[in-house]
Amino acid sequence: MVKRIVILGGGTGGTLVANRLRRSLDRETVEIVVVDQDNSHVYQPGLLFIPFAMTTADAITRPRERQFHPGIRFHRASIERVDVEHDQVILGDGVTLDYDILIVATGAILLPEETEGLAGPVWMDRAFTFYDLEGAVALHQRLESFPGGRLVVNVVDTPIKCPVAPLEFCFLADWYFQQRGIRDKVDLVYVTPLDGAFTKPVASRTLGNLLEQKGIQLVTDYNTATVDGSEGRLISFDDREVSFDLAVMIPAHGGAAYVGASPGLGDALGYIETDKYTLQSKVKDNIFALGDAAGIPASKAGSVPHFEGDVLVTNIMRFLAGQTLDARFDGHTNCFIESGFHKALLIDFNYDTEPLTGHYPTDVGLPLLKESHLNHLGKLMFQTFYWHSLLPGHDVPGVGSAMPLRGKHLEATPH
Ligand SMILES: Cc1cc2nc3c(=O)[nH]c(=O)nc-3n(C[C@H](O)[C@H](O)[C@H](O)COP(=O)(O)OP(=O)(O)OC[C@H]3O[C@@H](n4cnc5c(N)ncnc54)[C@H](O)[C@@H]3O)c2cc1C
Repeated sequence: MVKRIVILGGGTGGTLVANRLRRSLDRETVEIVVVDQDNSHVYQPGLLFIPFAMTTADAITRPRERQFHPGIRFHRASIERVDVEHDQVILGDGVTLDYDILIVATGAILLPEETEGLAGPVWMDRAFTFYDLEGAVALHQRLESFPGGRLVVNVVDTPIKCPVAPLEFCFLADWYFQQRGIRDKVDLVYVTPLDGAFTKPVASRTLGNLLEQKGIQLVTDYNTATVDGSEGRLISFDDREVSFDLAVMIPAHGGAAYVGASPGLGDALGYIETDKYTLQSKVKDNIFALGDAAGIPASKAGSVPHFEGDVLVTNIMRFLAGQTLDARFDGHTNCFIESGFHKALLIDFNYDTEPLTGHYPTDVGLPLLKESHLNHLGKLMFQTFYWHSLLPGHDVPGVGSAMPLRGKHLEATPH
């Protein structure tokens, strides 16, 4: 009998895993259906560059259906809910899809309404986000006419997608206002709920130093309670105020909205409780999750579903064959960190090893935790790699799923 794998979400993770599965599984015996609500695949790392006129919305968007290999059925509809007990997905167009295996890859959504005042008149007036396409385009227009003043970049809560993107925004803003010749008229402030610039000690120190060198003020341990648009101030739960002329907000995130309408599927934040090694959900044996939707202690970054893909495909094939799931994801993540002036840093880490100095993927690769022009070129070239290698699910020689230790300066690890 033909088995059906339904993949919810045709973004980074859903697309690459659909393509990898299609190559590995016989079309006569396994049907693959991907469901997504729209037909526009946005290369999300490109959103960072739109406010600074370094790219455009058109340049980072492609038709979603064209990213799938032949033999994959793309069903365009909103997901209303999953009936976990009966192995069914109920869609907004009235269709009910039965599945043998469900892969949840519906990512994370922005929740500005979770912060008092943020979703009110201030939104897209004095407070913007570059975390979606509409916001990034509107912020570009606002930045172009910004005469100077206090620009505050605020991460409301964690976890967020690409935890380094708000720092990159600060670095690029410093560069952008220097290009415009008004840097001396702009106060840049980075406001974060963390106790430093980043979560991991070595990277936090390096990135904190970079903020300082660039004259960007760092405000830590700040949990935003209210955004007061008329007075232009953030107010924290412990009553500290940060004033702004222009706020660049990274709103709280949560899992996709349908998860909350699907009894038993998600946790309180709408993420899917998942085994961090096998990627099998803790909800039911035939449900798996990858990417931002998975409730695992890995970063919400596109490199994560990239490195998870291989593990997930192996485990799904083993599941179909009735074997134990023995492929393990080690939490491998890497991110370029654009730092302005045609330079970038690179970090590479996993569940057990924090970002360290050295090189990636071996002793002679890209420099880690160090500004370099080579990393900037890597960041720019990544978009081509994304469309032509990562999404189609090709293996890259020398870059495997597991984090390489070779090339890293392990002695930098603090105990
Ligand atoms: C500004 C920004 C910069 C970033 N920079 C980087 C970077 O430099 N490097 C990096 O590795 N990562 C970066 N990321 C993060 C990266 O883009 C995400 O982690 C990655 O796309 C996650 O993939 P995913 O498949 O889990 O989710 P997504 O790619 O977001 O896909 C989720 C899909 O689910 C669909 N969906 C959701 N709900 C429903 C529903 N109810 N019905 C139907 N369909 C639905 C959506 O339409 C979407 O297509 C960045 C993100 C942002 C926002």
